Amino acid sequence: MSVIGIDFGNESCYVAVAKAGGIETIANDYSLRATPSCVAFTGNTRTLGVAAKNQQVTNLRNTVCGFKHFLGRKFKDPVVQNELQSTLYRVEERPDGSVGIRVDYMGEEQVFTPEQITAMLLTKLKVDATSELKTQIYDCVITVPSYFTNAERKALLDAAGIAGLNCLRLINETTATALNYGFYKQDLPEPEEKSRNVVFVDFGHSAIQVSACAFNKGKLKMLAATSDLVGGRDVDMMLAEHFRKEFMTKYKLDPRSNKKSFLRLLTEVEKLKKQMSANSTKLPLNIECFMNDVDVQSSIQRVDMEELCKNLFQRIEDVMKRCLRDSKLTLDEIHSVEIVGGSSRIPAVKHLIEQIFGKTSSTTINQDEAVSRGGALQCA
Ligand code: ATP
Ligand code: MG
Repeated sequence: MSVIGIDFGNESCYVAVAKAGGIETIANDYSLRATPSCVAFTGNTRTLGVAAKNQQVTNLRNTVCGFKHFLGRKFKDPVVQNELQSTLYRVEERPDGSVGIRVDYMGEEQVFTPEQITAMLLTKLKVDATSELKTQIYDCVITVPSYFTNAERKALLDAAGIAGLNCLRLINETTATALNYGFYKQDLPEPEEKSRNVVFVDFGHSAIQVSACAFNKGKLKMLAATSDLVGGRDVDMMLAEHFRKEFMTKYKLDPRSNKKSFLRLLTEVEKLKKQMSANSTKLPLNIECFMNDVDVQSSIQRVDMEELCKNLFQRIEDVMKRCLRDSKLTLDEIHSVEIVGGSSRIPAVKHLIEQIFGKTSSTTINQDEAVSRGGALQCA
């Protein structure tokens, strides 16, 4: 019987398993390694993962995405209130002050808890892993952000329980990444030697986590971990706001006035953002029949994005500097800086790493799968 490691991300989940001395990432029913953290309801059916994400634009009210930060929090919590600014489905306060997610399902309106929604997603991961591995799955290790409180951890454990998964342990995403790094390094110092200090920067969809870790053969020690709730989605939001202002003057259209249009804009700017990571030239934005049958056109380049996101990058700089300070390491004592998380592909983040740590960032571990693979290793 296999134990799976689950990276429950705000945008997507990855599942890995320890097998025959190595670690394998498990593909879902679409043969993709990333399963969108998305749960949708239509009529009497529940759609999960890739299929749920694919129908989001035509079923906004009943497609639940980005619910990781609702777990274990009260509705009035500032983090929840902040999430609601970009949430396209119905979220409300339940009588006990907790978060309720209202959807149309089975011919009536139903209110689910974030734990229930998370459980539906975990069930999907379990089913996909079961069919891929051709064995029953009960046990898992789930990774959580290092900043998750006890209440958030408890809520995730409850979700695993509802999904029929026996969560052997919750481990911090930072620890999982470090475990994954250490596992493949044959040349770590002996236990009595000076340790190798590595900094990990995980810049994801909803948060950045920076950690400093000391490695010796068979041993790892977390020296410091800092974080901030700033992620790739904030870059998307900045870009969307930029184009919104432009379209309001140029076309007299406000993308915020229509949720579907705003989602289309967000989807397009995310694509642009990814292109900007590889390309510093001017890139076009064209959306046909955007609103009121109007086709919209514009363009943007990397430097414009960097200017728009100055405040976000300042926060990222602060998190990195705090980790360096907390770790009490001098720059000479840092062996390397490893980057993980989708948003760590943004060149400005790599530049910040060079500025602060005086080293080019390394990608010796898989940027997208490191966390889930570390989770799988924990129970190997
Ligand atoms: P979290 O860790 O916050 O829970 P997550 O683990 O789901 O979220 P990741 O999968 O690490 O997040 O990263 C997703 C983010 O990475 C998205 O915002 C996506 O737009 C961004 N991203 C992916 N590829 C690129 C790229 N080439 N350039 C810039 N951003 C990218
Ligand atoms: Mg992540």
